[in-house]
Amino acid sequence: MDGMGSPHMNAEDVERYSLGSLSDEEAAGFDEHLLICELCRSSVEASDEYVASMRAAARKIRGKGEPALAKAPGKATRHVRGNGA
Ligand SMILES: [Zn+2]
Repeated sequence: MDGMGSPHMNAEDVERYSLGSLSDEEAAGFDEHLLICELCRSSVEASDEYVASMRAAARKIRGKGEPALAKAPGKATRHVRGNGA
């Protein structure tokens, strides 16, 4: 029951796979390997998360901030002062 010459993806392969910078041929080979290898699959998942968070961070740095924080502060905090009934 020896996997015949189907090497695990190394860290660099996993990263390039997540980044989508593999050749079609390489990616196809890894896709096949991932079907049978849970170990590499979890590596890819972790790498995907890492890549996603890196991209989100890069977007934050380059962009003009998150849209969620772009609320007008004036309207949200309305203090009613000296307006008793
Ligand atoms: Zn593997």
